[in-house]
Amino acid sequence: MVLYKYINQPIYSFFSNFKRHSDNRPEVCHNCRGTKFHGHGWRRRYVHHNGQDLHILIQRFKCCNCSRTVTILPSFLTRKFIRSVDDILSHVRNSFYGLKNTVARQVSTFYRRRFLRHLSPLIMLLNFHGAHLSLPEKENEKAIKAIETAQVQFPNSLSESFFRNTNKHFMAY
Ligand SMILES: [Zn+2]
Repeated sequence: MVLYKYINQPIYSFFSNFKRHSDNRPEVCHNCRGTKFHGHGWRRRYVHHNGQDLHILIQRFKCCNCSRTVTILPSFLTRKFIRSVDDILSHVRNSFYGLKNTVARQVSTFYRRRFLRHLSPLIMLLNFHGAHLSLPEKENEKAIKAIETAQVQFPNSLSESFFRNTNKHFMAY
């Protein structure tokens, strides 16, 4: 089991040398509640964002007590997805609008289905953070409104807030 911690770090700060940021240590181990960690190296991670392919470095720590690894993920990403959250949301929104997507239809359908599983917790999260959404009845209109609100309310930070509030990775099965 790998543990995760999301950090709110904008994507551009990864373009140059991200290794400068060293204040992203986990505070507590979600497995054993231990509070001591040692660095466990960096892993290259492939990211697709806004038509660009990037490689960024992801920092890992190891709990000194139970030896579990904690991966530090920036909140513009979500676990297991190469595409940035912003990209995913844009594709889903386009697909609900019936616009042509730049991703294959199967990918678009997959994103949309996954997103719909997360629509209710997302709406709860948005409302909890003061959005007070008055939502349309139709599912696709509801989804569009939630996405557009999330893009404004959580730029670069949806995964972190989502994980903190639901204990789930955004878009995870
Ligand atoms: Zn531990």
